[in-house]
Amino acid sequence: MSLAVVASRNDVPTIEIDSDRLLADMRALADFGKVGSGVHRRALGSVDMQARGWLADRMRAAGLAVEMDGVGNVIGRTPHARRILIGSHTDTVPNGGWLDGAMGVIYGLELARAFMAAGGGGEIGLEIVSFSDEEGCFAALLGSHSFVGEMDRDAMLDRVNEDGVRLADTLEAVGLADKAAARFDPAIHPAYLEAHIEQGPVLEAKGLPIGIVTTIVGVRGWKISFHGQADHAGTTPMAMRLDAGAALCDFAVRIAAFCRRESGTHTVWNGGDIRLIPGAHNVVPERADYIFSFRDPSAALLDRIAQEVERLSSVVAAEHGVTSEAGQIFAMAPAAMDETLMGLMRDAAEAEGAPSLDMPSGAGHDAMVLARHVPTGMLFIPSIAGRSHHVAEDSAPEDIVTGARVMARALTTLCRTIALP
Ligand SMILES: [Zn+2]
Repeated sequence: MSLAVVASRNDVPTIEIDSDRLLADMRALADFGKVGSGVHRRALGSVDMQARGWLADRMRAAGLAVEMDGVGNVIGRTPHARRILIGSHTDTVPNGGWLDGAMGVIYGLELARAFMAAGGGGEIGLEIVSFSDEEGCFAALLGSHSFVGEMDRDAMLDRVNEDGVRLADTLEAVGLADKAAARFDPAIHPAYLEAHIEQGPVLEAKGLPIGIVTTIVGVRGWKISFHGQADHAGTTPMAMRLDAGAALCDFAVRIAAFCRRESGTHTVWNGGDIRLIPGAHNVVPERADYIFSFRDPSAALLDRIAQEVERLSSVVAAEHGVTSEAGQIFAMAPAAMDETLMGLMRDAAEAEGAPSLDMPSGAGHDAMVLARHVPTGMLFIPSIAGRSHHVAEDSAPEDIVTGARVMARALTTLCRTIALP
């Protein structure tokens, strides 16, 4: 699936952003849930709902028809029968940064405002979306999953947030329980664009202002458990122990060595959680649990690592005289971005005098959900020191503005050349 283009139509206005207005709105949004230089805005909480209300007002003032749907997605539409989707999210992780998600939504607001101010002509318009709960307060990427019809809303209603409050009760409390879910429609929505901060250090290290996302990497998470026997750590000879902890440590070293040997340029892995039971200095561990996750743009490479996790865990268990279980606990498939949209953004960056880098995204985004249904493009700007999911998250104002200008130029070309559904 690659986006089809036609000869240029000249009834579409040139979209020119107002950089002061863009930055002012981004700062205004950051005031909702401000924590020092960062933001704490958990999905569907009172601060998040105030921010959604503010965004809806800004969209209305820009001349958009606004809807807040049954999971909290805020959607602003120009009055066109067919509309290019532009979005991201305005919820944050606990004590997160002010740009993660928010930047892409405010880009959308400013692009729609500039488009409408320039006459809003042509047969194709814009639809700006702030997807609900991208950060997984109740369920990761909740809003985008709902939007593309991949979520069974009723099955989700019993999910609880970190305060133990059910999604059903939350939706009731904020007045969304009886609202319908807004839906993606291929006859209306021919493309999706998302801009985001990189959340990593690559663009800054290379001194490049724009990243063109090629693929959002896939991720797999595995839980590996070793079962041995708890014994006195002083009296049991080494050769007679069934030490689940020693097996785990051995496994952790050997699976990392395998990943180093087999990895591609963009493979990353993480042993982020270890639990030894009973967890006492004078007891041989009877059980050891390890959460191991790995990411790569290639599903085939992810398969290879998964096979090795399974094989190696039983080999190591046998060597240590313990037993093991290994099972996948989460998985997300890699999502390829659309070549035509990548090319449009690359050309737009060049025309703006902003050199770009083709790169994968190591983080998940709403774009990975949309990409299964509609040609999708994603643009990155640099994160200072690569910091994100932290109050220290920031980007240079000139990079924020450059990213918006590149989006505006790419979007103008897209509106003029996209084959209408
Ligand atoms: Zn984000």
